[in-house]
Amino acid sequence: MSGVQLEFAGGLQIQTVQEQAWPGVELDFLLHQVPPEEFAQTRAARDARFVNQDNGQLRMSYHSTVLRTAQGNVLIDTCIGNHKERPLIERWHRKEFPYLERMAELGLAPDDIDFVCCTHFHADHVGWNTRLDNGVWVPTFRNARYLFAEPELSYWQQVREDEPEHIFTRSYNDSILPVIEAGQAVVVAPDHEIVTGVQLRPAFGHSPGNVVIEVQSGDDRAVLSGDVMHHPVQIERPDWNSIYDQDRDKAQATRQKLLERIADGHTYLIGAHFAGPTALQVQESEGRFSYR
Ligand SMILES: [Zn+2]
Repeated sequence: MSGVQLEFAGGLQIQTVQEQAWPGVELDFLLHQVPPEEFAQTRAARDARFVNQDNGQLRMSYHSTVLRTAQGNVLIDTCIGNHKERPLIERWHRKEFPYLERMAELGLAPDDIDFVCCTHFHADHVGWNTRLDNGVWVPTFRNARYLFAEPELSYWQQVREDEPEHIFTRSYNDSILPVIEAGQAVVVAPDHEIVTGVQLRPAFGHSPGNVVIEVQSGDDRAVLSGDVMHHPVQIERPDWNSIYDQDRDKAQATRQKLLERIADGHTYLIGAHFAGPTALQVQESEGRFSYR
């Protein structure tokens, strides 16, 4: 099975569940105003895992990460989901992904998930929160508490009121609201500890209440960075924004700070869209970051 499989001290396991591998997108579909000749000079541009060497397109993935801990199974980010009405984006629209089947290959049924947390509320991070049951959206993970960071929840509640046609109002309505109505939502602070050693951290910018998830077990550490970085090239070039960053200056500062925090050559960095999916270790030399 491809994807991330990490075994941490104390028996904590980290695994990814892939929903969709996106074979390639053009540079300007993902990154904001990056000159192609500068992109070509990066190490990531020559890394076949992350850039298609035949046509120069950027590889992407949509996946969730599962943390299997002594205190329960934690599911981070829930991708696009099935049967969602997303007419503006073909690769998200009315899909039928074998996502739950892939989760079953890890020995996990939906009822085995104890906590669900979305790093932010963009439609490709909340989809499997719900599934369609006789025309009604119901929580996919019936035994789970869904942890919603307060600033992100309030922001999108306001967008829903102000902009009923907003693309992410649609995903709020079918993927967040049914969870709240089912009584399974828990509003938490953006530095909430989910279980021992698994903690949210504020990482605002990509979205107003965006968080990352830090995992520590013994000496082993990982960060699930959600969309703080969309592509590994942003490790080398944290000054490059994704076109999806809502506040570009803040997103850039957050990315820089996160890299400084984890650049010990040891901590695993798992991005929500890093192709593979893969876990990278970051190091710093003379103010520049690189991965291995
Ligand atoms: Zn995303």
